[in-house]
Amino acid sequence: MFRIGIGNDTHKLAEGRPLMLGGVHVASDRGGEGHSDADALLHAITDAVLGALCEGDIGMHFPDSDPQWKDANSLQLLSRVVWLAHERGLRVINVDATIMLERPQLRPYLLSMRENITEVLGVELSCVSVKAKTAEGLDAVGQGLAVSALAVVLLENAQR
Ligand SMILES: [Zn+2]
Repeated sequence: MFRIGIGNDTHKLAEGRPLMLGGVHVASDRGGEGHSDADALLHAITDAVLGALCEGDIGMHFPDSDPQWKDANSLQLLSRVVWLAHERGLRVINVDATIMLERPQLRPYLLSMRENITEVLGVELSCVSVKAKTAEGLDAVGQGLAVSALAVVLLENAQR
């Protein structure tokens, strides 16, 4: 049995906040605003896993109103939903994700992001794809006001 899930996430960018993507600190004068570490890439992947499990969304599992998740490390949030998948007898086959950010260029950081995600998911590097693109100066991402990410994940019944 296969299960597929999709996730997306957007955070407003603010000066003086660290920019976290895929658990990597990206050098930038602005970072994501939010209750946790505002890691849009990890939140999109986490939502995709939850979607594949038909288990609601990240806001339901880690509510903003709960002080436990203030400045939370999103690798830990992802790790929790991966644990939930394992509890259901499912394991991750592969992830494909795209980050949308106008600047800085993310290419030098993509491998580190993939390595972090690979470690949490317990899969090989060749099973985690992270791409980056700009919005060509259009919309909120294009104007440098936001960072956004989109992810799909495929799970398989581990008992096969
Ligand atoms: Zn988020």
